[in-house]
Amino acid sequence: MTQTSSHNERAHAKLSASGAERWMACTGSPQFEEGFEDEETDFAKEGTIAHELSEILISRELGLIDKRKANSLLKAKQKSEYYNADMLGYVEQYVDFVMERVNAARAITHDAVVLIEQRLDFSEWVPDGFGTGDILIIAESFLDIIDLKFGKGVKKYAPENPQMKLYGLGALNMYDAIYDIKNVRMTIVQPRLDHISTDELTAFDLYDWAESTVRPIAEEAYNDGGTFKPGDHCKFCKGRAVCRARADDCLETVDTYQGAELSLEEIGLLLAKVDSIGKWCKEVADHAYKQATLHGKKIPGYKLVAGRSNRKFTNIGTVKEILLGEAYKSEQIVKPEELISLTDIEALVGKKKFESLLGGCITKAPGKPALVPESDKRDELNSAKAAKDDFDDDFIDN
Ligand code: SF4
Repeated sequence: MTQTSSHNERAHAKLSASGAERWMACTGSPQFEEGFEDEETDFAKEGTIAHELSEILISRELGLIDKRKANSLLKAKQKSEYYNADMLGYVEQYVDFVMERVNAARAITHDAVVLIEQRLDFSEWVPDGFGTGDILIIAESFLDIIDLKFGKGVKKYAPENPQMKLYGLGALNMYDAIYDIKNVRMTIVQPRLDHISTDELTAFDLYDWAESTVRPIAEEAYNDGGTFKPGDHCKFCKGRAVCRARADDCLETVDTYQGAELSLEEIGLLLAKVDSIGKWCKEVADHAYKQATLHGKKIPGYKLVAGRSNRKFTNIGTVKEILLGEAYKSEQIVKPEELISLTDIEALVGKKKFESLLGGCITKAPGKPALVPESDKRDELNSAKAAKDDFDDDFIDN
């Protein structure tokens, strides 16, 4: 049995599964976010196209649509400005993974159920809570949930992932009574990072988490009076530029330091926050700019002025003609031809073709030493001297 619904018809709940990492950590955020406009980034739009491609391919694999129909749907999606040559290859990797799971489930039972883009209602524990599961497979008492993440900025892990657990709860809420589900496996596939992460819980453990953890937090988050708690989860909060708790958190890092010179310990503490403080500063500046330019608001102490602009030729052909006519040589007035960047060429020809055509033309120098948190998975350089030697070599080479 197979069912499907459309990705682009997804709606968002106030306490959504995709926002759970945020509202479970900062119960003040759902109310606070209500006054701000929805923002759909280019990354989100790209993710939507990738999901839509995957729906078409999986529907074709499952025999829900024929090849001709699939091809015409694919062609339509490929016209999107957010489509690129690599996307289809990555989506096919995901589809292969899904079909492996579908076939494994069908080997257990011919009656395995496959659901695509399924709305999952977990409002039993979270007021008005629902989300959309990319793929659900139910084989006897086993439930498999697979989520495509097309982003490549941050690796996402299934263990302790509240979004995946809420999908699991939503699926249990809807199908446990019919299939008597005992185990739930949750998998995140991030094809652009070649990353797959899986976790498996018993239905009992998920219900227990729902009652003991989710229900009380969701009640606090849904009603007025939640608690503001800044952290990594702020990065997708709609109110992040103007949130006082976040501003206080960034500023107090420096405020608490004493003495004329920062100690190495203080530098270490500050380094841990440099990234988020930097982002916060930029978000505040972007917010102020939008207020002034889009909404005509006056920011005290600031004014809008005409930005600097550069002179440019109206017609390059005419300029060349005039200069060559004045006996200037072509090499004096025209830049040598230059390749676009390696990354842009890879995006242009596609990852596979890039490898086969140009794999032998690439070299990669060892990277400069980088100072990263202890938690980083890379091996530590052997010694400070080795790091210094690497740095010196690099300095001399340049
Ligand atoms: S910016 Fe952070 S602390 Fe402020 S409401 Fe949003 S999630 Fe909470």
